[in-house]
Amino acid sequence: MATPLGSVHKSSDLVKDFCCGACKSRSIEEIAEIYCETCLKCFCGKCIYLHGQLYADHITYGTEDMNKWPVTKKMEDFLFKCENHKDKKLKMFCKDHSQPCCTNCAFLNHRLCKEVSLISESVKTNPSDLHELSNKIETILKELKNLQNTRQSSFQSVEGSYSKRLQEVRDVRQKLNSALDELEKATLKELDDLRTSLQAALKTDVDNCNKLMDDLELLSEAVKELADKSIGEMAFIASRKCLDKIQESQVYLKKLL
Ligand SMILES: [Zn+2]
Ligand SMILES: [Zn+2]
Ligand SMILES: [Zn+2]
Ligand SMILES: [Zn+2]
Repeated sequence: MATPLGSVHKSSDLVKDFCCGACKSRSIEEIAEIYCETCLKCFCGKCIYLHGQLYADHITYGTEDMNKWPVTKKMEDFLFKCENHKDKKLKMFCKDHSQPCCTNCAFLNHRLCKEVSLISESVKTNPSDLHELSNKIETILKELKNLQNTRQSSFQSVEGSYSKRLQEVRDVRQKLNSALDELEKATLKELDDLRTSLQAALKTDVDNCNKLMDDLELLSEAVKELADKSIGEMAFIASRKCLDKIQESQVYLKKLL
């Protein structure tokens, strides 16, 4: 969506782009403080003192009157550079395409164009209203700034609603976890209770079986012992008890099998 656009000069860089002409001729780089309109040269603090001694009548401008200074070399290069041929200067203007162009461009793209002339010639017939352009740029800059602010706040609100939704997802997850924990707990308790009651019933059956088996074994021993002896009363009681116990066992077996 957004691509960073290359920026031109910041106005604070402007002064740094002017070097003292006098120092420069001695291969020293000093930031200029004064521009002399008569010499068409910039001077640093030291050199302007000497210049002032020699040429008191020259008209000079300080950094507070930057609008009277010439255009910097950097600015000139920036304006004259052909976008398509970096090492070429814009020298021509094609009226058909309404486009400044270098000699390469003119040769490659504007050979069939009817009105291609030197910029130095075009200037004479089409003076530019730079104030109006400056105002237009201001307006567009404002619009871009507004758009940027809107996008920035949208960006933040996307960020905000993302966090909110993320929290919602986490809350639901937490609730599901708790519900599953509860369900697991209840199910395990049910399972435990079932096991306990089933085991209790089975244990009762095992105990009952043991009791009946013990009783029957005792009676069986008694019956075997009494079979060879003729003790009428005991035999009668044993027989009675055996029949009772056998019936009790049979009823019990019938009930459970
Ligand atoms: Zn100097
Ligand atoms: Zn001067
Ligand atoms: Zn070109
Ligand atoms: Zn053209």
